Amino acid sequence: MLERIKSFFGISNKNNKIKSPSIGKNTMKNIVLFGPPGAGKGTQADVLKEKYQLIHISTGDVFRFNIKNETALGTLAKSYMDKGHLVPDEVTINMLNAEVEKNAGANGFIFDGFPRTAAQAEALANLMVEKNSQINAMVALEVDDEILVGRLLERGKTSGRVDDADETVIRERISEYYRKTDILKEFYQAQDKYFGVDGIGSIEEITDRLSAIIDTL
Ligand code: AMP
Repeated sequence: MLERIKSFFGISNKNNKIKSPSIGKNTMKNIVLFGPPGAGKGTQADVLKEKYQLIHISTGDVFRFNIKNETALGTLAKSYMDKGHLVPDEVTINMLNAEVEKNAGANGFIFDGFPRTAAQAEALANLMVEKNSQINAMVALEVDDEILVGRLLERGKTSGRVDDADETVIRERISEYYRKTDILKEFYQAQDKYFGVDGIGSIEEITDRLSAIIDTL
């Protein structure tokens, strides 16, 4: 099975990048909240982190924090984000590792907007092994593209986000999702960890759908 996943993602054995899980896993609950831009990941993460006492890490939020504080990371990230492109893997992975390290005693994490590429998924799997833990599930919010565009344009009226303000940038973000991110479903499906839910409905209805999955983990 692991070989199949590795060959699917073109991951070589050379550096032994995917390590075997350790015996005696700890009890952290780690969830990847997945879906295209505008699917509602941030909204649901805010509810779920309270409900399950998990640490919410949104890579987009961390980048925006850095942009606001005019750090070097922020300047670099902005040059990609404003065009609707992904920030390079190395930068994003290092940042994510640092965010996890900051919360060493956590019950578990909700990863929102990460991983977005095969390299990020591989890095996250390795990080979890280092923590003697694992990703328990990828829960995905499924929403049609045209609804996403409408939601993001609406959000752009108040969010102050450059990347929500322009329909061309919004469509580029959705294209990036299909080019680089959507494939990760198969990475988690191959491990029986992918769960898709309908992302249309009230906040409460969608939380209930997600909770029905998280409660079984
Ligand atoms: P989000 O807040 O998740 O919609 O992300 C906003 C933007 O931040 C994305 O369009 C990317 O430019 C960047 N970004 C967020 N997370 C990642 C990631 N995991 N990998 C690369 N770029 C990211």
